[in-house]
Amino acid sequence: MKIPIHTPSRSYNVHIGQGDLEEAIKTYQQFIVERDKVIVFTDENVWRIYKDAFTKSFPFPFSVFVMPGGEACKTFEQYLAAQTFLLEQKCTRKSMLFAFGGGAVGDLTGFVASTFMRGIPIIQLPTTILAHDSAVGGKTAINHALGKNMIGTFYQPEGVIFDIEFLKSLPAQEVRSGMAEVVKHALISDMVWLQELMELPPMFNLDDEKTMGYLEHGIRVKANIVAQDEEEHGVRKFLNFGHTYGHALEAAFGFGKLTHGEAVMIGMVYALLLSEKYGQISRSFTKEFLLFAICNKYPVESVANFNFDELFEFMQKDKKAEDGELQFVLLKDIGKPFTQRISRSECQETDLLLRELIE
Ligand code: NAD
Ligand code: ZN
Repeated sequence: MKIPIHTPSRSYNVHIGQGDLEEAIKTYQQFIVERDKVIVFTDENVWRIYKDAFTKSFPFPFSVFVMPGGEACKTFEQYLAAQTFLLEQKCTRKSMLFAFGGGAVGDLTGFVASTFMRGIPIIQLPTTILAHDSAVGGKTAINHALGKNMIGTFYQPEGVIFDIEFLKSLPAQEVRSGMAEVVKHALISDMVWLQELMELPPMFNLDDEKTMGYLEHGIRVKANIVAQDEEEHGVRKFLNFGHTYGHALEAAFGFGKLTHGEAVMIGMVYALLLSEKYGQISRSFTKEFLLFAICNKYPVESVANFNFDELFEFMQKDKKAEDGELQFVLLKDIGKPFTQRISRSECQETDLLLRELIE
């Protein structure tokens, strides 16, 4: 299955398949044979599991750059090490990169690709559910000690190839993390789909067909938004639903301790509470959603590790903050997102409310 992505800077396809990596990569043959070097970026966990399978099915000569697993690859040190590796390999503007891994590998590799010699092509080969979000749309980033994803670019890939066979080895925590972004795509677009997701048996034990269907659905929601607003001046902000409070939690814990999706799920409960005030979301729906999060073992209780002031400091560093006021994505109703400036005192009230509901 192919989902076309159209943005002003580039159009490309997201391919979703199963066990067909080799075939799918071959569809780019003409493009790839014109490159002087092909470099695959991956992380140590993915490479430990898939080195043999990947090497067998990757149909072109390549060199590999292996990074630490997870958020640890989105650092200035890894960025510099990657650039050094490319220079040592004598890469040129005719070289290209593949990002084989989760969102962290994708974000780092995208950033490297967008800046090496002012930009070389990249194809994303996502290996996590979460990466149905991160591999599509062209946001690249590394972290700074003062904030997550603070340094980055908009840079669209040449293509995205999702082989869901790679998802089989995902630990439960990573399934949970990825499904949070699927749920986010449903919350901002489609009540019926959201109800279906909320009725799934706990822990998201999905068969292959369902997995493909949900990835496709999420990618179509994202594709539709980035086609209208590639660089986040307007509607693309809606994709940040749950991320203001979520990123604050993620940063407060120290990147990587709480997964991105776990943090975002808690952030979505927070955003729903705020939406009660500005939209038609009912308290009973927010409670039902919180219960859904708890049943799927999202660690909502982790909020208690920090007080409001600590979290608010991180929220203020959010890229969506303007003139010291926070801009939240809220829902008028399910599928109807909008942005709203929120004062510090409203943030604090909502934080208190969340803590009371969780207790
Ligand atoms: P990740 O890349 O950190 O991967 C999570 C963990 O799973 C890592 O330890 C990794 O080694 C391991 N892993 C990856 N694939 C595996 C597999 N198939 N089997 C077993 N283990 C595997 O995390 P992620 O959740 O994919 O991505 C999170 C990152 O994505 C965050 O940094 C977030 O900021 C970013 N993100 C970016 C965008 C964007 O638009 N660019 C959107 C959403 C999230
Ligand atoms: Zn996210």
